[in-house]
Amino acid sequence: MDSALALDIGGTKLAAGVVTSDGSVHGFVVEPTRRSDGPGPIITTLFELGRRAIEAATAEGVRAVAGVGISCGGPLDAAAGVLVNPLHLPGWIDVPIVAMAEAEFGLPASLDNDATLAALAEQRHGAAREARSMFYLTISTGIGGGAVLDGVLYRGAAGNGGEFGHITVVRGGRPCLCGRRGCLEAYASGTSIGVRADEAIAADGLPTSLVPPVTAEQVANAAASGDPLASAIWNETIELLGQAVTDLVNILEPEVVVLGGGVTRSGAQLLDPLARAVREGAMGPAGAAVRVSLAGLGDTVCVVGAGMLALDALAASHS
Ligand SMILES: [Zn+2]
Repeated sequence: MDSALALDIGGTKLAAGVVTSDGSVHGFVVEPTRRSDGPGPIITTLFELGRRAIEAATAEGVRAVAGVGISCGGPLDAAAGVLVNPLHLPGWIDVPIVAMAEAEFGLPASLDNDATLAALAEQRHGAAREARSMFYLTISTGIGGGAVLDGVLYRGAAGNGGEFGHITVVRGGRPCLCGRRGCLEAYASGTSIGVRADEAIAADGLPTSLVPPVTAEQVANAAASGDPLASAIWNETIELLGQAVTDLVNILEPEVVVLGGGVTRSGAQLLDPLARAVREGAMGPAGAAVRVSLAGLGDTVCVVGAGMLALDALAASHS
């Protein structure tokens, strides 16, 4: 079975693993991203993780890796293999990561957007297996997304499509990091859920046991135990997510919507009301066809996606 080394450059952690064509991950290793170190030392650590993953996978009897796949947040230029200016890695400007990885490992390398690769991974080996059309929404520090449509991974004209976090859900609403106002990300990302709770507490509205600074996880837990302010924030979050996901379901008519990222650790508390809102809100056929599901691959999702990317590139070069 073919295998590829997969490297994931996240804002909080670096990960590496060797991925085989059945989607299994061998020698998975993770380390925190020391963002203040800048690109040089972080890439050195990333490549060390890659070598450790190869050693561990080889010890498990996995056949030698034939390529390298790299996952990172955008903006990036996948065709050129360059990290243009990733929003989660300040100061990384035009880093030629593919050329660096090819020199380091002596293997062909390829690069793509982390949320795009997570969509690919979930469609091949996760919660949307066998679906020809699906989209993936990651709700974590920010909100990202990716889609497989009619069996083909969707990339967009410049390779950065699928930015579902920047759908306007409130006209003239909260400022967003992208420069516009009222984006879904400005309300429903983990960061934004916490900030909205802090602001509501400062405004001295509903009673609450929460004390700022509040995390999204604290809001979810307090809402689950009936805290009035936390419940209001959580319900508004679900309502806005429901609005945006319903729009996307109407536009794309997918078989599966997969939800991943840290905020989805709240499980049924997020999934059940959101799935109901989408089923009830979407237009007839689209609402009847869609299943909303939590992600199946957990922390390895981007590594599996990067492995699939590299294996697909190898298969294309052989044909
Ligand atoms: Zn935005």
